[in-house]
Amino acid sequence: MILRLVLGDQLNEKHSWFHAIDPNVIYLFQEIRSETDYVVHHIQKVVAIFLGMRTLAEKLKKNGHQIHYLRISDPENQHSFFTNVQKILDRYSITHIEYQEPDEYRVDEHLSSLNTLGLGIQKVSTEHFLTERFELKKIFEGKKTYLMENFYRKMRVKWNVLVDEDRQPLEGKWNFDHENRKKWDAKNQVPPPFEFGHDASALVEELELANVKTMGFIRNNVSVWPKSREEAQQVLHYFIDWLLPVFGDYQDTMAQNQPFLFHSRISFALNVKMLHPLEVVKSVEKTYLDGKVSINQAEGFIRQILGWREFVRGIYWAEMPNYAKLNHFNHKNSLPDFFWTGKTDLNCLSQSIGQSLEFSYAHHIQRLMIIGNYALISGIDPDELDRWYLGIYIDAFEWVEMPNTRGMSQFADGGKLATKPYASSANYIQKMGNYCQHCKFNPKEKEGPNACPFNQKYWDFIGRNADAFRKNPRMSMMVKLWEKQNQNNLSS
Ligand SMILES: Cc1cc2nc3c(=O)[nH]c(=O)nc-3n(C[C@H](O)[C@H](O)[C@H](O)COP(=O)(O)OP(=O)(O)OC[C@H]3O[C@@H](n4cnc5c(N)ncnc54)[C@H](O)[C@@H]3O)c2cc1C
Ligand code: SF4
Repeated sequence: MILRLVLGDQLNEKHSWFHAIDPNVIYLFQEIRSETDYVVHHIQKVVAIFLGMRTLAEKLKKNGHQIHYLRISDPENQHSFFTNVQKILDRYSITHIEYQEPDEYRVDEHLSSLNTLGLGIQKVSTEHFLTERFELKKIFEGKKTYLMENFYRKMRVKWNVLVDEDRQPLEGKWNFDHENRKKWDAKNQVPPPFEFGHDASALVEELELANVKTMGFIRNNVSVWPKSREEAQQVLHYFIDWLLPVFGDYQDTMAQNQPFLFHSRISFALNVKMLHPLEVVKSVEKTYLDGKVSINQAEGFIRQILGWREFVRGIYWAEMPNYAKLNHFNHKNSLPDFFWTGKTDLNCLSQSIGQSLEFSYAHHIQRLMIIGNYALISGIDPDELDRWYLGIYIDAFEWVEMPNTRGMSQFADGGKLATKPYASSANYIQKMGNYCQHCKFNPKEKEGPNACPFNQKYWDFIGRNADAFRKNPRMSMMVKLWEKQNQNNLSS
């Protein structure tokens, strides 16, 4: 008999494993403590993954596949990939084990230990990504930094997306970013989020009984996260019909009490592989080719998936395991308590962290320019921050979370991924949204009781690193401004 492992982020019912029913194959699904406990996760994240696993296992069983499912509460569950496998070998007379390539270094290491069982072991592709694990490493062989734009253009050509027969970009440009910086106006109503009526109460009770430690909140019978491929497709279609037409315009904006704006919310479905990235990209490309959306909306969205998503995964595999230890600025401060409660007078942080606790979600600009920016200029230890991001977000798996957090947002890799630190004062936050209008602090003031704390922290960050930033052409201007401010202060 062959034992095949299905992991919680491998819920791809289209995988070739499932094309035929084979009486010699048994599929093992495991809800285990080593996965619920490696960081404190948001309750909605644990529930969404387990509901997704349970739904897929049920469907496969109905279709005639043999399933062995270990629930978190099953007494026979040993809560470790290795021990669970070891325990059922004899029961099913297993001679071979097969598993899909894990996306996380940690899990890859765990599963390699199965080699010690003395059985035939085969690691197969997840059939999900658009690049091989080490493809990006080969593309940038010998280079000190990785350039996303170069990589993205190669991907457009490789997958024949928004290019003509001469491999040139449609409408003459690879990138329409400069058209995508609009500030949202409340007159342009945001469609309500697409929601599902999942009853997760029994599962939540099981998690409580098992004493699984979680953070955040969960609502009864309502979820914005799909539990099956069919539901994931509904989220995608809703996005294409209602949100894509203005996605690019407002992709960088932030607004009070608007947790989702025009973002797709498909990252969870993609990362657990309910959706395939190419089906998403091709559906959006088709919507543009059918004349239903303009190119800046379609290209802005496609770049996130064909470009950024594959790019950060390539960096993860090119740089692990060292990447997990990088701390370029040697930041050592602890996360403030409000990261766990959302209770702070800084309105932009209260909004961004508050909604993260409520929905297990924040959009990109909140993650980068509010929460990440605050952590960077406050000198927070990237290890602590990584654990927080990895736990709180519905879509957080280390291969995508770590390069984004440690690399893009904290510059802890010294600039392998980003050409300059994403640090800003209140000026940027005020320009990109309306949080400051609802805040007790004044974004224009640098000193005094009403001064926005982002201002003092930002200039302090520039000052602490002035020598290094002087050499970076994208930062040297800020150092000059900091010097000028200091001179003015001395002469006044
Ligand atoms: C500090 C930080 C941490 C992040 N952690 C994660 C994470 O753990 N998991 C995760 O999937 N994304 C992460 N991102 C990227 C991005 O914020 C999320 O993918 C996005 O907010 C998910 O919401 P959405 O599906 O509505 O995205 P949309 O704005 O609708 O974008 C569409 C899709 O593009 C992809 N995408 C966009 N930006 C990125 C990016 N920078 N890297 C990878 N994929 C991207 C996602 O699959 C996303 O679903 C992080 C970004 C930052 C700055
Ligand atoms: S004033 Fe400062 S703290 Fe308040 S919302 Fe604006 S940037 Fe955030």
